[in-house]
Amino acid sequence: MHNFIQLLPDHIANQIAAGEVIQRPASVVKELMENAIDAGATKIEVHIKDAGKTLIQVIDNGKGMSETDATLCFERHATSKVRTADDLFSLTTKGFRGEALASIAAISHVEMRTKLEEAETGRKIVIEGSKIITNEDTVSPTGTTFDIKNLFYNVPARRNFLKKDSTEFRHIQDEFERIAFSHPTLQLKLTNNGTEVYYLPPAVLRKRIVNILGPNYNDRLVPIDESTEIVQLKGFVLKPEHAKKTRGDQFFFVNDRYFKSHYFNHAITKAFEGLLAPRTFPGYFLYLTIDPSKIDVNVHPTKTEIKFEEEKFIYSILMSSIRLALGKYNISPTLDFERETSFDLPHDMKMQPAREPSIRVNDSYNPFNTTTSNRTGSGSSGKTQENFSKAITDQGFGSKESSSNDWADFYPIEESKEEEKDEAILFEEEATSAKQFIVKGNYIISSSKSGLMLIHARRAVEQIVYTETFNNFISNPIESQTLLFPITREVSKNEAVYWNENKALLQQLGFTGKIEDQKLEVTAVPSVLQEESISSGIEDIFETIAYQNVEKGDVAHTLIAAIAKSASMKNINFSAPESIQGLIDQLFQCENHSYSPRNKKIIETITLDEIGNKFN
Ligand code: ADP
Ligand code: MG
Repeated sequence: MHNFIQLLPDHIANQIAAGEVIQRPASVVKELMENAIDAGATKIEVHIKDAGKTLIQVIDNGKGMSETDATLCFERHATSKVRTADDLFSLTTKGFRGEALASIAAISHVEMRTKLEEAETGRKIVIEGSKIITNEDTVSPTGTTFDIKNLFYNVPARRNFLKKDSTEFRHIQDEFERIAFSHPTLQLKLTNNGTEVYYLPPAVLRKRIVNILGPNYNDRLVPIDESTEIVQLKGFVLKPEHAKKTRGDQFFFVNDRYFKSHYFNHAITKAFEGLLAPRTFPGYFLYLTIDPSKIDVNVHPTKTEIKFEEEKFIYSILMSSIRLALGKYNISPTLDFERETSFDLPHDMKMQPAREPSIRVNDSYNPFNTTTSNRTGSGSSGKTQENFSKAITDQGFGSKESSSNDWADFYPIEESKEEEKDEAILFEEEATSAKQFIVKGNYIISSSKSGLMLIHARRAVEQIVYTETFNNFISNPIESQTLLFPITREVSKNEAVYWNENKALLQQLGFTGKIEDQKLEVTAVPSVLQEESISSGIEDIFETIAYQNVEKGDVAHTLIAAIAKSASMKNINFSAPESIQGLIDQLFQCENHSYSPRNKKIIETITLDEIGNKFN
């Protein structure tokens, strides 16, 4: 009789376990930062070299470890956080499986220095492939420092599988940000090859989000605050107009732990229904606080999937409180840092029931039906659009001198970088009998029975060119112009693969280029692309195709959006009233006329009530 089964030696068991917990450098950063938090640190520094392939250093000012704990912590299933099975149902710590350090030590070179506050000396341990090399007294401040070098040095398959540095660093940054969002009161620092990426002082949540994502986020956040017996919900959603084309700004936390959930994400999508531009995803930072016995964190080694006992209830709380908040924000968007979660509403407004969120543009309503200008019927859109786009691209739509009417003040404006700024509308003209005005060469103001409609002309052009091009580029490849001086750009191996995979599509979009020795030479670009937009157009290509699993339509969408943007930079000529009308007609023939391809608002309406209110 043969027996085949034998127990694996610890170092092999650890390596196998490591495969689950430590998938890439970012996993190490996550585990070490979580340990620092569990150790009560108030300051954590993370220093990265070569995207973590050479060094990951995490320094904390937490409680540190005794001499005994310092060696024990690298053992598998060694944890100070769980003692009995019951503890698993009342977890308040990030870690509890006792396998992160054992895993890390199995597949890298680790140096750890640690000291308890009351201890005179600290302890230094060097461990390589689970083998302790050094274990000695050392001088060290209170807290713990980990240096992880040569990650996956003994797991070549893993090491070779790592992506290029920028991608791996992006993963590290993602993990760092998740922890930063869930622990705003910690002081955190992240450096990459000696350059500071983040220094985050302790802050309230709103300020922390703004410190990470940028000051323009302050106005975009709509607070959520809801308390029930089962769950407490706090946080923010992004105003619908700031929804992104990627799922970037979507964060769920439960008891300060980041997690992913398709199911809850669906609740948010439902709450935003009807408010989002097509192909965009709502942004949210939502924090659930819940009795730890009502969730199971232990369903996945990386603990980013969590089971909720009351998931249906939480789903409906998420949906209703976000709807309510979006409705309220419709009335009063003013908020600041101090008033973190309370709405700053005038007293009498607080008494009113919240309005359901709604888009204020009526898609089917065309206020220009009464004019007699030479408009096209809906059936002939193709022809008109062709002419319009030709007019834009051929002659650049005239100049100020060509104006012959006295009601339009049209001169080309510089497309401002901060587009938000140019939303301010100034009436510069005296109203006469005209129904439409152009302000600053860009804003069309049109009166209608129910009030005023404002159109951002440049974005309207962008949307029209986009729609026309997108609908036609398969059958009519975009006209291309050969460059006098080809543009060259270094490309990574991945980028080269992506370029070649998308070659036919790129050709249809007007781009011709070939790659040799990791160098791309672009010899032709779409003729509508303005000279100054060529390089950024090419960068747009790589930014889009570099996304994993990108759909063909997404590549086309992004590139055509870039082309349309470039086309809209040309001067717009409104010398004849028909050209305004033509533009409006064409806009309304676009399937989506509310948002530009880059999700900027094209049309704004001001109702008679709103105008009336301004005089109260
Ligand atoms: P877990 O976090 O699941 O307990 P780990 O392998 O991550 O497992 O850590 C093992 C133990 O080592 C922890 O339970 C903790 O007692 C100790 N430890 C790890 N990192 C630190 C740190 N930065 N400061 C103090 N103690 C730590
Ligand atoms: Mg841990």
